[in-house]
Amino acid sequence: MSEVPVAPEAYRAYLQELRRNAPKVTRGLVLVYTGDGKGKTTAALGIAVRALGVGWRVAFLQFIKGPWKSSEEHIVPLFGERWLFRKLGRGFTWEHDSLDEDQAAAQEAWQEARNVLLSGDYEVVVLDEINYVLSYRFLPVEMVIETLRQRPSHVHVVCTGRNAPEALVAFADLVTEMRKVKHPFDQGVLAQRGLDF
Ligand code: ATP
Ligand code: MG
Repeated sequence: MSEVPVAPEAYRAYLQELRRNAPKVTRGLVLVYTGDGKGKTTAALGIAVRALGVGWRVAFLQFIKGPWKSSEEHIVPLFGERWLFRKLGRGFTWEHDSLDEDQAAAQEAWQEARNVLLSGDYEVVVLDEINYVLSYRFLPVEMVIETLRQRPSHVHVVCTGRNAPEALVAFADLVTEMRKVKHPFDQGVLAQRGLDF
């Protein structure tokens, strides 16, 4: 394809052509990024960028809402409906008073994610930090796996977060464990905008 046009109309046409030429997914995969080293969400964003570049649609669903706005939200206007970025549930921070409340919020978040997965509208669906939610048993892993089985076959799914449950690791096609060798946090350097969020 030619150079990326800047004028809005031409850009829209360019995106449409990209979409027309997008490769078909013959076998959607389940990818898991876990471990205690930095890079899990970043890796998922890397896949998202690649997928958008090839003309696919991407849903990036966040199970945990940080106190800050992630910079990735700003990608939205560039790709329009091709890029769905959503904080699930009630903009959930997982700091409720009771387990019941956590589970109810997790269920709510999961219903949204499930609808997106089963819709088949997105070639790539990222379930950011779902491993965390599963490892605390806010959601039963069997239920999530059942939906992964049911999803349309052209949907790739990326699950991120520490402590991916064994059942999900067993089910996934690809599992990468990020291992911390060094992290600046240990030297007192806090998360930085643009690099960490
Ligand atoms: P990133 O979003 O940077 O790829 P991540 O998804 O692998 O990180 P999370 O467990 O989601 O890691 O943690 C999110 C935040 O915590 C990020 O700001 C990240 O830099 C930071 N972080 C990740 N791993 C570590 C670590 N081992 N020690 C300290 N801070 C960490
Ligand atoms: Mg993360």
